[in-house]
Amino acid sequence: MISGKLYINGQWVDSRSGNERKILNPFDASVIATVAEGDREDTRAAITAARRAFDESGWPQTPASERARLLFKLGDLIERDREELARLESLDTGKTVEESRWDMEDIEGIFRYFAGLADKDGGEIIASPNPDSTSMVIREPVGVCGQISPWNYPLLQASWKMAPALAAGCTIVMKPSEITPLTTLKVTELAEEAGFPAGVVNTVLGPGPEVGAELSENNDVDLISFTGGIATGKTIMRAATGNVKKVALELGGKNPNIIFDDADFDVAVDYALNGVFFHAGQICSAGARVMVQKGIHDRFVEALQGRMEKIVVGNGFDKKTQMGPLISAEHLAKVEGYVNIAKNEGAKLVLGGKRPDDAALENGYFYRPTLFTECENNMRIVQEEVFGPIITIEKFSTEEEVIKRANDTIYGLSAGFWTRDPDRIERVSKALRFGTVWANDFNVYFVQAPWGGYKQSGLGRELGKIGLEEYTEVKHIYRNHATQPFNWFGVDNE
Ligand code: NAD
Repeated sequence: MISGKLYINGQWVDSRSGNERKILNPFDASVIATVAEGDREDTRAAITAARRAFDESGWPQTPASERARLLFKLGDLIERDREELARLESLDTGKTVEESRWDMEDIEGIFRYFAGLADKDGGEIIASPNPDSTSMVIREPVGVCGQISPWNYPLLQASWKMAPALAAGCTIVMKPSEITPLTTLKVTELAEEAGFPAGVVNTVLGPGPEVGAELSENNDVDLISFTGGIATGKTIMRAATGNVKKVALELGGKNPNIIFDDADFDVAVDYALNGVFFHAGQICSAGARVMVQKGIHDRFVEALQGRMEKIVVGNGFDKKTQMGPLISAEHLAKVEGYVNIAKNEGAKLVLGGKRPDDAALENGYFYRPTLFTECENNMRIVQEEVFGPIITIEKFSTEEEVIKRANDTIYGLSAGFWTRDPDRIERVSKALRFGTVWANDFNVYFVQAPWGGYKQSGLGRELGKIGLEEYTEVKHIYRNHATQPFNWFGVDNE
Protein backbone atom coordinates (compact mmCIF):
# COMPACT_ATOMS: atom_id res chain seq x y z
CA MET A 1 0.00 0.00 0.00
CA ILE A 2 1.32 3.41 -0.89
CA SER A 3 1.82 6.22 1.59
CA GLY A 4 -0.91 8.84 1.56
CA LYS A 5 1.40 11.47 3.03
CA LEU A 6 3.26 14.46 1.71
CA TYR A 7 6.93 14.04 0.81
CA ILE A 8 8.96 17.04 1.95
CA ASN A 9 12.72 17.21 2.35
CA GLY A 10 13.09 13.43 2.19
CA GLN A 11 10.43 12.79 4.88
CA TRP A 12 6.87 11.44 4.61
CA VAL A 13 4.73 13.79 6.69
CA ASP A 14 1.08 14.46 7.47
CA SER A 15 -0.40 17.77 6.42
CA ARG A 16 0.14 20.40 9.13
CA SER A 17 -3.60 21.05 9.34
CA GLY A 18 -4.32 17.32 9.72
CA ASN A 19 -6.79 17.58 6.83
CA GLU A 20 -7.36 14.55 4.65
CA ARG A 21 -9.11 13.76 1.36
CA LYS A 22 -10.89 10.63 0.22
CA ILE A 23 -9.92 9.39 -3.22
CA LEU A 24 -12.79 7.86 -5.20
CA ASN A 25 -12.92 5.15 -7.83
CA PRO A 26 -14.85 6.63 -10.79
CA PHE A 27 -16.22 3.17 -11.60
CA ASP A 28 -18.50 3.09 -8.53
CA ALA A 29 -17.63 6.12 -6.38
CA SER A 30 -16.14 3.84 -3.69
CA VAL A 31 -13.32 5.17 -1.49
CA ILE A 32 -9.97 3.68 -2.57
CA ALA A 33 -7.62 5.73 -0.38
CA THR A 34 -7.45 8.52 2.16
CA VAL A 35 -4.58 10.93 1.68
CA ALA A 36 -3.18 13.98 3.42
CA GLU A 37 -4.55 17.29 2.15
CA GLY A 38 -1.82 19.92 2.11
CA ASP A 39 -2.23 23.68 2.12
CA ARG A 40 -0.11 26.79 1.55
CA GLU A 41 1.97 26.21 4.67
CA ASP A 42 2.89 22.66 3.64
CA THR A 43 3.72 23.97 0.18
CA ARG A 44 6.00 26.65 1.61
CA ALA A 45 7.85 23.98 3.60
CA ALA A 46 8.37 21.97 0.41
CA ILE A 47 9.55 25.06 -1.50
CA THR A 48 12.03 25.85 1.29
CA ALA A 49 13.37 22.28 1.10
CA ALA A 50 13.69 22.46 -2.68
CA ARG A 51 15.34 25.90 -2.43
CA ARG A 52 17.89 24.61 0.08
CA ALA A 53 18.57 21.51 -1.99
CA PHE A 54 19.18 23.69 -5.04
CA ASP A 55 21.25 26.39 -3.36
CA GLU A 56 23.19 24.38 -0.78
CA SER A 57 23.18 20.62 -1.38
CA GLY A 58 25.25 20.64 -4.56
CA TRP A 59 22.54 18.89 -6.60
CA PRO A 60 22.82 21.29 -9.57
CA GLN A 61 26.58 20.70 -9.62
CA THR A 62 26.23 16.90 -9.49
CA PRO A 63 27.85 15.39 -12.58
CA ALA A 64 25.14 14.98 -15.21
CA SER A 65 26.11 11.32 -15.51
CA GLU A 66 25.16 10.81 -11.85
CA ARG A 67 21.77 12.45 -12.37
CA ALA A 68 21.37 10.19 -15.42
CA ARG A 69 22.20 7.13 -13.29
CA LEU A 70 19.46 7.99 -10.80
CA LEU A 71 16.93 8.60 -13.58
CA PHE A 72 17.81 5.30 -15.28
CA LYS A 73 17.33 3.60 -11.93
CA LEU A 74 13.95 5.26 -11.48
CA GLY A 75 12.95 4.07 -14.97
CA ASP A 76 13.94 0.52 -13.97
CA LEU A 77 11.95 0.71 -10.72
CA ILE A 78 8.88 1.89 -12.62
CA GLU A 79 9.33 -1.07 -14.99
CA ARG A 80 9.65 -3.40 -11.98
CA ASP A 81 6.37 -2.09 -10.53
CA ARG A 82 4.62 -1.54 -13.87
CA GLU A 83 1.66 -3.77 -13.18
CA GLU A 84 1.04 -2.30 -9.72
CA LEU A 85 1.27 1.22 -11.11
CA ALA A 86 -1.02 0.42 -14.04
CA ARG A 87 -3.68 -1.02 -11.74
CA LEU A 88 -3.38 1.94 -9.38
CA GLU A 89 -3.80 4.36 -12.29
CA SER A 90 -6.92 2.52 -13.47
CA LEU A 91 -8.40 2.48 -9.96
CA ASP A 92 -7.84 6.22 -9.68
CA THR A 93 -8.97 7.27 -13.19
CA GLY A 94 -11.33 4.50 -14.34
CA LYS A 95 -9.46 3.96 -17.61
CA THR A 96 -8.86 0.41 -18.83
CA VAL A 97 -5.88 -1.40 -17.32
CA GLU A 98 -4.55 -2.03 -20.82
CA GLU A 99 -4.41 1.75 -21.46
CA SER A 100 -2.68 2.26 -18.13
CA ARG A 101 -0.07 -0.38 -19.05
CA TRP A 102 0.71 1.55 -22.26
CA ASP A 103 1.06 4.71 -20.15
CA MET A 104 3.51 3.01 -17.78
CA GLU A 105 5.67 1.76 -20.64
CA ASP A 106 5.77 5.30 -22.02
CA ILE A 107 6.70 6.63 -18.60
CA GLU A 108 9.64 4.23 -18.22
CA GLY A 109 10.84 5.44 -21.63
CA ILE A 110 10.46 9.08 -20.62
CA PHE A 111 12.74 8.68 -17.59
CA ARG A 112 15.28 6.79 -19.71
CA TYR A 113 15.18 9.30 -22.56
CA PHE A 114 15.90 12.26 -20.29
CA ALA A 115 18.50 10.22 -18.41
CA GLY A 116 20.21 9.69 -21.76
CA LEU A 117 20.04 13.38 -22.64
CA ALA A 118 21.30 14.61 -19.26
CA ASP A 119 25.00 14.55 -20.10
CA LYS A 120 24.88 15.23 -23.84
CA ASP A 121 24.92 19.03 -24.00
CA GLY A 122 28.44 20.26 -23.19
CA GLY A 123 27.73 23.80 -24.34
CA GLU A 124 28.97 25.56 -27.43
CA ILE A 125 31.93 27.74 -28.36
CA ILE A 126 30.76 30.66 -30.47
CA ALA A 127 32.60 33.21 -32.59
CA SER A 128 33.63 36.35 -30.71
CA PRO A 129 34.84 39.68 -32.11
CA ASN A 130 38.15 39.63 -30.22
CA PRO A 131 40.65 37.00 -31.45
CA ASP A 132 42.20 36.86 -27.94
CA SER A 133 38.98 35.70 -26.33
CA THR A 134 36.73 32.71 -25.97
CA SER A 135 32.96 32.90 -25.96
CA MET A 136 31.05 29.99 -24.58
CA VAL A 137 27.31 29.35 -24.31
CA ILE A 138 26.27 26.90 -21.63
CA ARG A 139 23.02 25.77 -20.12
CA GLU A 140 22.42 25.70 -16.37
CA PRO A 141 19.45 24.41 -14.39
CA VAL A 142 16.77 27.05 -13.92
CA GLY A 143 16.33 26.37 -10.18
CA VAL A 144 13.34 25.37 -8.07
CA CYS A 145 10.43 24.17 -10.20
CA GLY A 146 6.78 24.00 -9.23
CA GLN A 147 5.02 21.33 -11.25
CA ILE A 148 1.24 21.00 -11.43
CA SER A 149 -0.40 18.07 -13.22
CA PRO A 150 -3.98 17.21 -14.24
CA TRP A 151 -6.17 14.18 -13.55
CA ASN A 152 -6.55 12.69 -17.01
CA TYR A 153 -3.07 11.17 -17.44
CA PRO A 154 -1.83 11.64 -13.88
CA LEU A 155 1.54 9.91 -13.97
CA LEU A 156 2.26 10.42 -17.66
CA GLN A 157 1.84 14.18 -17.32
CA ALA A 158 3.85 14.23 -14.09
CA SER A 159 6.70 12.31 -15.73
CA TRP A 160 6.85 14.78 -18.66
CA LYS A 161 7.77 17.35 -16.01
CA MET A 162 9.76 15.41 -13.42
CA ALA A 163 12.18 13.66 -15.77
CA PRO A 164 13.53 16.69 -17.69
CA ALA A 165 13.64 18.91 -14.58
CA LEU A 166 15.73 16.36 -12.66
CA ALA A 167 17.92 15.64 -15.68
CA ALA A 168 18.66 19.37 -15.98
CA GLY A 169 19.68 19.61 -12.29
CA CYS A 170 16.60 21.40 -10.97
CA THR A 171 14.82 20.59 -7.73
CA ILE A 172 11.07 20.09 -7.81
CA VAL A 173 7.85 20.43 -5.87
CA MET A 174 5.29 18.25 -7.64
CA LYS A 175 1.57 18.79 -7.12
CA PRO A 176 -0.61 16.12 -8.71
CA SER A 177 -4.32 16.68 -9.24
CA GLU A 178 -6.00 16.39 -5.86
CA ILE A 179 -8.42 13.78 -7.23
CA THR A 180 -5.81 11.44 -8.79
CA PRO A 181 -2.62 11.54 -6.68
CA LEU A 182 -1.93 7.81 -6.18
CA THR A 183 0.56 6.94 -8.93
CA THR A 184 2.50 10.17 -8.40
CA LEU A 185 2.83 9.24 -4.72
CA LYS A 186 4.02 5.78 -5.68
CA VAL A 187 6.63 7.19 -8.06
CA THR A 188 7.76 9.60 -5.35
CA GLU A 189 8.41 6.50 -3.22
CA LEU A 190 10.38 5.01 -6.10
CA ALA A 191 12.41 8.22 -6.45
CA GLU A 192 13.31 7.87 -2.76
CA GLU A 193 14.28 4.23 -3.35
CA ALA A 194 16.37 5.24 -6.38
CA GLY A 195 18.36 7.54 -4.08
CA PHE A 196 17.56 11.12 -5.06
CA PRO A 197 18.93 13.32 -2.25
CA ALA A 198 16.57 14.87 0.31
CA GLY A 199 14.84 18.02 -0.94
CA VAL A 200 15.44 17.34 -4.64
CA VAL A 201 12.04 15.69 -5.15
CA ASN A 202 9.10 16.92 -3.05
CA THR A 203 5.44 16.01 -3.54
CA VAL A 204 2.62 18.01 -1.98
CA LEU A 205 -1.03 16.98 -2.29
CA GLY A 206 -3.90 19.39 -2.03
CA PRO A 207 -6.29 21.69 -3.86
CA GLY A 208 -5.21 23.89 -6.75
CA PRO A 209 -6.23 27.21 -5.18
CA GLU A 210 -4.05 26.37 -2.13
CA VAL A 211 -1.04 24.27 -3.13
CA GLY A 212 -1.02 25.20 -6.84
CA ALA A 213 -1.56 28.89 -6.13
CA GLU A 214 1.31 28.98 -3.59
CA LEU A 215 3.64 27.34 -6.12
CA SER A 216 2.62 29.89 -8.75
CA GLU A 217 2.99 32.93 -6.49
CA ASN A 218 5.97 32.04 -4.31
CA ASN A 219 9.08 34.09 -5.10
CA ASP A 220 11.38 31.19 -4.23
CA VAL A 221 10.04 29.20 -7.18
CA ASP A 222 11.96 29.92 -10.40
CA LEU A 223 9.74 28.09 -12.87
CA ILE A 224 6.16 26.92 -12.81
CA SER A 225 5.14 24.16 -15.19
CA PHE A 226 1.43 23.49 -15.49
CA THR A 227 -0.79 21.09 -17.41
CA GLY A 228 -4.52 21.63 -17.18
CA GLY A 229 -7.35 23.85 -18.37
CA ILE A 230 -7.00 27.26 -20.06
CA ALA A 231 -8.73 29.20 -17.26
CA THR A 232 -6.37 27.76 -14.63
CA GLY A 233 -3.40 28.39 -16.93
CA LYS A 234 -4.32 32.07 -17.18
CA THR A 235 -4.68 32.34 -13.39
CA ILE A 236 -1.23 30.79 -12.98
CA MET A 237 0.32 33.12 -15.55
CA ARG A 238 -1.00 36.13 -13.64
CA ALA A 239 0.11 34.68 -10.29
CA ALA A 240 3.64 34.14 -11.60
CA THR A 241 4.38 37.81 -12.23
CA GLY A 242 5.66 38.58 -8.69
CA ASN A 243 9.18 37.33 -9.42
CA VAL A 244 8.75 37.00 -13.21
CA LYS A 245 9.17 33.26 -12.87
CA LYS A 246 9.34 31.21 -16.02
CA VAL A 247 5.99 29.80 -17.04
CA ALA A 248 5.38 26.64 -19.05
CA LEU A 249 1.77 25.81 -19.92
CA GLU A 250 0.20 22.74 -21.53
CA LEU A 251 -3.45 23.66 -21.84
CA GLY A 252 -6.54 22.32 -23.53
CA GLY A 253 -7.33 21.49 -27.11
CA LYS A 254 -10.19 21.19 -29.55
CA ASN A 255 -8.58 19.14 -32.21
CA PRO A 256 -9.85 18.74 -35.77
CA ASN A 257 -9.64 15.38 -37.51
CA ILE A 258 -10.19 16.08 -41.22
CA ILE A 259 -11.26 13.29 -43.58
CA PHE A 260 -10.87 14.07 -47.27
CA ASP A 261 -12.82 12.14 -49.93
CA ASP A 262 -9.67 10.29 -51.05
CA ALA A 263 -8.78 9.00 -47.56
CA ASP A 264 -8.25 5.32 -46.86
CA PHE A 265 -11.85 5.06 -45.67
CA ASP A 266 -11.68 2.12 -43.25
CA VAL A 267 -8.49 3.25 -41.54
CA ALA A 268 -9.87 6.77 -41.20
CA VAL A 269 -12.95 5.33 -39.46
CA ASP A 270 -10.70 3.35 -37.08
CA TYR A 271 -8.77 6.46 -36.16
CA ALA A 272 -11.81 8.69 -35.83
CA LEU A 273 -12.75 6.29 -33.02
CA ASN A 274 -9.22 5.85 -31.62
CA GLY A 275 -8.80 9.61 -31.65
CA VAL A 276 -11.64 10.13 -29.19
CA PHE A 277 -12.75 7.16 -27.13
CA PHE A 278 -9.60 6.20 -25.26
CA HIS A 279 -10.08 7.29 -21.66
CA ALA A 280 -13.66 8.26 -22.54
CA GLY A 281 -12.48 11.24 -24.56
CA GLN A 282 -10.67 12.83 -21.62
CA ILE A 283 -7.58 13.52 -23.71
CA CYS A 284 -6.22 16.99 -24.44
CA SER A 285 -5.56 15.95 -28.05
CA ALA A 286 -8.85 14.09 -28.60
CA GLY A 287 -9.98 14.40 -32.22
CA ALA A 288 -13.48 15.24 -31.10
CA ARG A 289 -14.07 17.60 -34.00
CA VAL A 290 -14.39 15.37 -37.07
CA MET A 291 -14.67 17.20 -40.42
CA VAL A 292 -15.74 15.05 -43.34
CA GLN A 293 -15.70 15.96 -47.04
CA LYS A 294 -19.14 15.84 -48.61
CA GLY A 295 -18.46 12.98 -51.08
CA ILE A 296 -18.05 10.43 -48.28
CA HIS A 297 -19.91 12.20 -45.49
CA ASP A 298 -23.03 10.04 -45.25
CA ARG A 299 -21.16 6.76 -45.64
CA PHE A 300 -18.63 7.88 -42.99
CA VAL A 301 -21.31 8.85 -40.46
CA GLU A 302 -23.03 5.50 -41.01
CA ALA A 303 -19.77 3.55 -40.50
CA LEU A 304 -18.89 5.56 -37.41
CA GLN A 305 -22.32 5.09 -35.87
CA GLY A 306 -22.19 1.33 -36.51
CA ARG A 307 -18.84 1.02 -34.76
CA MET A 308 -19.76 3.34 -31.89
CA GLU A 309 -22.83 1.27 -31.08
CA LYS A 310 -20.52 -1.66 -30.35
CA ILE A 311 -18.14 0.13 -27.95
CA VAL A 312 -18.16 -1.82 -24.68
CA VAL A 313 -18.49 0.58 -21.75
CA GLY A 314 -17.70 -0.78 -18.30
CA ASN A 315 -15.20 -1.51 -15.57
CA GLY A 316 -11.64 -0.78 -16.68
CA PHE A 317 -10.54 -3.96 -14.91
CA ASP A 318 -12.77 -6.11 -17.12
CA LYS A 319 -10.85 -7.39 -20.16
CA LYS A 320 -13.82 -6.83 -22.47
CA THR A 321 -14.19 -3.16 -21.55
CA GLN A 322 -13.16 -0.67 -24.24
CA MET A 323 -14.21 2.54 -22.49
CA GLY A 324 -14.38 3.36 -18.79
CA PRO A 325 -16.19 6.13 -16.89
CA LEU A 326 -15.61 9.87 -16.71
CA ILE A 327 -13.47 11.06 -13.83
CA SER A 328 -16.04 12.57 -11.45
CA ALA A 329 -19.66 13.48 -10.85
CA GLU A 330 -18.76 17.11 -11.50
CA HIS A 331 -17.20 16.31 -14.85
CA LEU A 332 -20.13 14.08 -15.83
CA ALA A 333 -22.46 17.03 -15.17
CA LYS A 334 -20.26 19.22 -17.40
CA VAL A 335 -20.43 16.72 -20.28
CA GLU A 336 -24.21 16.36 -19.89
CA GLY A 337 -24.47 20.15 -19.95
CA TYR A 338 -22.60 20.31 -23.27
CA VAL A 339 -24.95 17.72 -24.80
CA ASN A 340 -27.89 19.95 -23.93
CA ILE A 341 -26.09 22.98 -25.33
CA ALA A 342 -25.44 21.10 -28.60
CA LYS A 343 -29.07 20.08 -28.93
CA ASN A 344 -30.22 23.64 -28.32
CA GLU A 345 -27.72 24.93 -30.88
CA GLY A 346 -29.31 22.70 -33.54
CA ALA A 347 -26.77 19.87 -33.78
CA LYS A 348 -28.43 16.54 -34.61
CA LEU A 349 -28.02 13.84 -31.96
CA VAL A 350 -27.48 10.55 -33.81
CA LEU A 351 -26.29 8.31 -31.00
CA GLY A 352 -25.84 8.34 -27.22
CA GLY A 353 -26.53 11.59 -25.45
CA LYS A 354 -27.20 9.85 -22.17
CA ARG A 355 -25.84 7.59 -19.44
CA PRO A 356 -25.83 3.82 -20.02
CA ASP A 357 -28.92 1.87 -18.89
CA ASP A 358 -26.81 -0.92 -17.33
CA ALA A 359 -27.66 -1.08 -13.60
CA ALA A 360 -24.16 -2.37 -12.83
CA LEU A 361 -22.76 1.02 -13.89
CA GLU A 362 -25.24 3.29 -12.15
CA ASN A 363 -22.97 4.33 -9.27
CA GLY A 364 -20.12 5.29 -11.60
CA TYR A 365 -19.66 8.36 -13.78
CA PHE A 366 -20.42 6.67 -17.09
CA TYR A 367 -21.59 8.33 -20.28
CA ARG A 368 -22.39 6.68 -23.59
CA PRO A 369 -20.40 7.32 -26.78
CA THR A 370 -22.24 10.21 -28.40
CA LEU A 371 -22.43 11.34 -32.01
CA PHE A 372 -23.68 14.69 -33.31
CA THR A 373 -23.99 15.53 -37.00
CA GLU A 374 -24.95 18.76 -38.79
CA CYS A 375 -22.53 20.73 -36.66
CA GLU A 376 -21.36 24.21 -37.58
CA ASN A 377 -18.17 26.07 -36.92
CA ASN A 378 -19.74 28.63 -34.60
CA MET A 379 -21.42 26.15 -32.23
CA ARG A 380 -20.06 25.90 -28.69
CA ILE A 381 -20.00 22.10 -28.96
CA VAL A 382 -17.52 22.56 -31.84
CA GLN A 383 -15.45 25.41 -30.40
CA GLU A 384 -15.13 24.42 -26.71
CA GLU A 385 -13.28 21.54 -25.12
CA VAL A 386 -15.83 19.07 -23.73
CA PHE A 387 -13.40 16.35 -22.60
CA GLY A 388 -15.91 13.54 -22.99
CA PRO A 389 -16.89 10.68 -25.34
CA ILE A 390 -18.48 12.95 -27.92
CA ILE A 391 -17.81 13.31 -31.65
CA THR A 392 -19.20 16.22 -33.64
CA ILE A 393 -19.32 15.97 -37.44
CA GLU A 394 -19.00 18.95 -39.75
CA LYS A 395 -19.44 18.54 -43.50
CA PHE A 396 -17.10 20.47 -45.84
CA SER A 397 -16.61 20.90 -49.58
CA THR A 398 -13.10 22.16 -50.36
CA GLU A 399 -9.59 21.99 -48.91
CA GLU A 400 -9.42 25.76 -48.66
CA GLU A 401 -12.70 25.91 -46.76
CA VAL A 402 -11.78 23.19 -44.26
CA ILE A 403 -8.39 24.72 -43.44
CA LYS A 404 -9.98 28.08 -42.77
CA ARG A 405 -12.58 26.49 -40.52
CA ALA A 406 -10.15 24.19 -38.70
CA ASN A 407 -7.88 27.13 -37.91
CA ASP A 408 -10.79 29.24 -36.68
CA THR A 409 -10.32 28.34 -33.00
CA ILE A 410 -8.64 29.74 -29.91
CA TYR A 411 -6.90 26.38 -29.51
CA GLY A 412 -3.86 25.06 -31.35
CA LEU A 413 -2.77 21.82 -29.75
CA SER A 414 -3.07 19.16 -32.44
CA ALA A 415 -4.81 18.28 -35.70
CA GLY A 416 -4.92 15.32 -38.05
CA PHE A 417 -6.04 14.72 -41.62
CA TRP A 418 -6.53 11.83 -44.02
CA THR A 419 -5.76 11.88 -47.74
CA ARG A 420 -3.82 9.82 -50.29
CA ASP A 421 -2.65 12.90 -52.23
CA PRO A 422 1.05 13.63 -51.47
CA ASP A 423 0.84 17.26 -52.60
CA ARG A 424 -2.13 17.83 -50.33
CA ILE A 425 -0.20 16.29 -47.42
CA GLU A 426 2.50 18.94 -47.90
CA ARG A 427 0.05 21.81 -48.23
CA VAL A 428 -2.29 20.91 -45.38
CA SER A 429 0.48 20.00 -42.91
CA LYS A 430 1.86 23.51 -43.28
CA ALA A 431 -1.46 25.35 -43.40
CA LEU A 432 -2.82 23.97 -40.12
CA ARG A 433 -1.87 26.20 -37.15
CA PHE A 434 -1.36 23.54 -34.47
CA GLY A 435 1.64 22.37 -32.42
CA THR A 436 1.35 18.83 -33.77
CA VAL A 437 -0.11 17.79 -37.12
CA TRP A 438 -0.69 14.15 -38.01
CA ALA A 439 -0.99 13.17 -41.67
CA ASN A 440 -2.80 9.82 -41.99
CA ASP A 441 -2.63 9.13 -38.27
CA PHE A 442 -3.96 10.50 -34.99
CA ASN A 443 -2.80 10.82 -31.39
CA VAL A 444 0.75 9.62 -31.94
CA TYR A 445 3.11 10.73 -29.19
CA PHE A 446 6.66 9.76 -28.51
CA VAL A 447 9.21 11.16 -26.15
CA GLN A 448 11.64 12.28 -28.87
CA ALA A 449 9.09 14.68 -30.41
CA PRO A 450 8.21 18.04 -28.86
CA TRP A 451 4.64 18.47 -27.60
CA GLY A 452 2.78 21.72 -26.99
CA GLY A 453 0.27 24.16 -28.33
CA TYR A 454 -0.08 27.16 -30.61
CA LYS A 455 -2.37 30.00 -29.53
CA GLN A 456 -4.16 29.46 -26.19
CA SER A 457 -3.23 25.77 -26.02
CA GLY A 458 -0.05 26.66 -24.25
CA LEU A 459 3.35 28.15 -23.82
CA GLY A 460 6.59 26.27 -24.35
CA ARG A 461 7.09 22.62 -25.23
CA GLU A 462 7.45 19.35 -23.33
CA LEU A 463 9.27 16.20 -24.46
CA GLY A 464 12.11 16.05 -26.98
CA LYS A 465 15.37 17.93 -26.60
CA ILE A 466 13.44 21.16 -26.21
CA GLY A 467 11.63 19.61 -23.22
CA LEU A 468 14.96 19.49 -21.39
CA GLU A 469 16.01 22.96 -22.52
CA GLU A 470 12.85 24.43 -20.96
CA TYR A 471 14.39 23.61 -17.56
CA THR A 472 17.61 25.48 -18.28
CA GLU A 473 18.87 29.04 -18.33
CA VAL A 474 21.26 30.04 -21.11
CA LYS A 475 24.52 31.63 -20.01
CA HIS A 476 27.11 33.34 -22.20
CA ILE A 477 30.63 33.27 -20.69
CA TYR A 478 33.13 35.62 -22.33
CA ARG A 479 36.76 35.19 -21.40
CA ASN A 480 39.41 37.72 -22.43
CA HIS A 481 42.86 36.10 -22.72
CA ALA A 482 44.85 39.31 -23.20
CA THR A 483 43.29 42.27 -21.48
CA GLN A 484 44.79 45.52 -22.78
CA PRO A 485 44.68 48.94 -21.11
CA PHE A 486 41.77 50.97 -22.45
CA ASN A 487 42.15 54.50 -21.17
CA TRP A 488 38.99 56.44 -21.74
CA PHE A 489 37.73 57.80 -18.46
CA GLY A 490 39.73 60.31 -16.48
CA VAL A 491 42.48 60.77 -19.05
CA ASP A 492 43.19 63.72 -21.29
CA ASN A 493 42.07 62.64 -24.76
CA GLU A 494 43.13 65.88 -26.53
P1 NAD B 1 -7.46 21.92 -14.07
O1 NAD B 1 -6.97 23.17 -14.73
O2 NAD B 1 -8.77 21.96 -13.39
O3 NAD B 1 -6.43 21.39 -12.99
C1 NAD B 1 -5.12 21.05 -13.31
C2 NAD B 1 -4.25 21.19 -12.09
O4 NAD B 1 -4.24 22.56 -11.70
C3 NAD B 1 -4.73 20.40 -10.88
O5 NAD B 1 -3.62 19.84 -10.22
C4 NAD B 1 -5.40 21.47 -10.03
O6 NAD B 1 -5.41 21.17 -8.66
C5 NAD B 1 -4.52 22.66 -10.33
N1 NAD B 1 -5.15 23.97 -10.06
C6 NAD B 1 -6.47 24.28 -10.02
N2 NAD B 1 -6.64 25.58 -9.71
C7 NAD B 1 -5.42 26.11 -9.55
C8 NAD B 1 -4.93 27.42 -9.24
N3 NAD B 1 -5.74 28.45 -9.01
N4 NAD B 1 -3.60 27.62 -9.18
C9 NAD B 1 -2.74 26.60 -9.43
N5 NAD B 1 -3.14 25.34 -9.71
C10 NAD B 1 -4.46 25.09 -9.79
O7 NAD B 1 -7.42 20.81 -15.21
P2 NAD B 1 -7.93 19.31 -15.09
O8 NAD B 1 -9.42 19.36 -15.13
O9 NAD B 1 -7.23 18.62 -13.98
O10 NAD B 1 -7.36 18.70 -16.46
C11 NAD B 1 -8.03 18.77 -17.66
C12 NAD B 1 -7.41 19.83 -18.55
O11 NAD B 1 -6.02 19.55 -18.75
C13 NAD B 1 -8.02 19.84 -19.93
O12 NAD B 1 -8.28 21.16 -20.32
C14 NAD B 1 -6.94 19.22 -20.80
O13 NAD B 1 -6.98 19.60 -22.14
C15 NAD B 1 -5.70 19.69 -20.12
N6 NAD B 1 -4.56 18.84 -20.49
C16 NAD B 1 -3.64 19.33 -21.40
C17 NAD B 1 -2.59 18.53 -21.81
C18 NAD B 1 -1.58 19.00 -22.81
O14 NAD B 1 -0.61 18.30 -23.05
N7 NAD B 1 -1.75 20.17 -23.40
C19 NAD B 1 -2.45 17.24 -21.28
C20 NAD B 1 -3.39 16.78 -20.36
C21 NAD B 1 -4.44 17.60 -19.97
